[in-house]
Amino acid sequence: MSKRVHNFNAGPAALPLSVLLSVQSELVDYQGHGLSVMEMSHRSLAFEGIIDAARATLTRLYGIPDTHEVLFLQGGASLQFAMVPMNLPDGGNGAFLNTGTWTNRALAEAGRVGDAHEIWSSKDAGFNHVPQPDVPLVAPDAARYLHYCSNNTIFGTQYHHRPVAKTADGRALPLVCDMSSDFLSRPINVSAYDLIFAGAQKNAGPSGVCVVIVKKTISRDFQGDPRTPIILRYQTHAEKGSMYNTPNTFGIYVLGEVATWVERKGGLAAIEAINAKKARMLYDAIDAHPLARGHATPESRSQMNVTFRLQDAAQEKALLSIASDAGVIGLKGHRSVGGLRASLYNAVSVESVATLVGLLNAFRG
Ligand code: PMP
Repeated sequence: MSKRVHNFNAGPAALPLSVLLSVQSELVDYQGHGLSVMEMSHRSLAFEGIIDAARATLTRLYGIPDTHEVLFLQGGASLQFAMVPMNLPDGGNGAFLNTGTWTNRALAEAGRVGDAHEIWSSKDAGFNHVPQPDVPLVAPDAARYLHYCSNNTIFGTQYHHRPVAKTADGRALPLVCDMSSDFLSRPINVSAYDLIFAGAQKNAGPSGVCVVIVKKTISRDFQGDPRTPIILRYQTHAEKGSMYNTPNTFGIYVLGEVATWVERKGGLAAIEAINAKKARMLYDAIDAHPLARGHATPESRSQMNVTFRLQDAAQEKALLSIASDAGVIGLKGHRSVGGLRASLYNAVSVESVATLVGLLNAFRG
């Protein structure tokens, strides 16, 4: 088999090797049907089995209650920034916790539909933290929901609690969460959310599929602006089982295989424990290193995206080059912030993290 690199890409990102091999083994003949998943009709029984199984596996993994349903949409998480405000009643009137790029984009889309409110931001601190549970989050009375991003992929920050925002008149706001970069990485209580969305291309599969877990009161009963195009309504997709138009059939198939892999690993709690171990290994190495410093404050550190810097750009370049020679890739920080970033998604092995830690420990500029 050809050589595989240690892949720390932020997304699209590493997929489990066993899933890739299993997909490879049935690529030209899916389970005796004599054709590839890419070549079969989305209306076929075989594909119906694939999409039903993917939905069922996610439902088991998260314990998704009957009040909610799973949709597989296209347009990435970015389309959800626009669909959420178009579908929720008075949906432009969201309250936003601004932890960087992705919440900024969501805020901008909601602002085109109504009055979006930024009620908290860590911009002045270089987006190096998320609001901690002791920080009161107060929204205007007009606000209808709270939008937050559970893990900021670019800045390497993550919530380790579920935020609560209240209006001045004491209402706790329903939650909408962008879970793109920590989806399938840890257990969550789905019933606490009105809507969760996640682009698949980090922990869950290839790009081109966005998972939406939504309360049926939203997806089965359109309450947004009546001018909203049909294809941009959750109801349209929910009523057609995510097959209003041709879905990303291959992406949904791979996503289902990845979800099954998570289940075989012992489920979300087991995966979370491995993720915690990997993150600890790398943060410990950064904290102990004379030239390195982490970007996020300790209580906001992400277990998925570890962002750090060396003393200057020349050192960072040197480490990237040593890493690349050792088959360790994907460590360059996002182009908007620079520095270094290692993404430790589910499919990144403890051995890969140990290899990176070894390189870092040996690096002295
Ligand atoms: N939200 C988060 C947290 C992300 O990391 C990203 C990008 N990967 C997006 C939203 C946008 O996702 P997409 O490119 O799938 O639209």
